[in-house]
Amino acid sequence: MSTGEPARRSTRGTTRKTTDSTTRKAVAARKTADSRKAADARKTAGSPEPADASARESMAPDPPRATVTTIVTATTDNRPGTGGDLLLPVPDEDLLSPVPDEDGAPFWEYAARGELRVQTCTACDAPRFPPRPCCPHCQSFDSHWRRMSGRGRIWSYVRPHPPLLPAYAAQAPYNVILVELADAPRIRLVGNLVTAADAALDSVDPARLRIGAPVKVAFHTLPGGMTVPRWLLERP
Ligand SMILES: [Zn+2]
Repeated sequence: MSTGEPARRSTRGTTRKTTDSTTRKAVAARKTADSRKAADARKTAGSPEPADASARESMAPDPPRATVTTIVTATTDNRPGTGGDLLLPVPDEDLLSPVPDEDGAPFWEYAARGELRVQTCTACDAPRFPPRPCCPHCQSFDSHWRRMSGRGRIWSYVRPHPPLLPAYAAQAPYNVILVELADAPRIRLVGNLVTAADAALDSVDPARLRIGAPVKVAFHTLPGGMTVPRWLLERP
């Protein structure tokens, strides 16, 4: 991946700039309507007022604060309507990584090996997710990790829009899908539908999102080292 990585980042950076440019226009329009509400919210939140007060007061009253709100930073402001979370590029390193607990650690260890496995009761053979010590069906504490084929169907999905954490806002709107596993239909995993394991979160055309669409797993290693399952359309 050492040769592919820079190219991917470069492409993603270009995409983000384009997205940001489009988003700025949308945000600027929205600021006009929301500026008074945003100002009130700023006071409530205790954030500092823009430093350049004289410039602000010399502006026409409509829109009153279309430009001064750009002083907010991605790390301090992601309130609704301000758009502050969209103005600065944020590195992928800021995306959240899973934090394995004792019960769930095997799921992530297998994922790092490119295997999708689900905890399964040894006594009654029922799979369960998220991982936990006791079987909800027969109360047995004996379990093992059954390997899945990696195939499933989109059971549901959402397309998150800001306000989001800054690193996610930079790639929004993207998709979050709920995948029903072919080998364990009662088990549904949350993930992202992408065009390739290492592609950007917004790489799939939203028009392709469809409940029931067959998908297959792919594994993506995050900058922090964790490997997470992602999903590809069976018929891209
Ligand atoms: Zn059981």
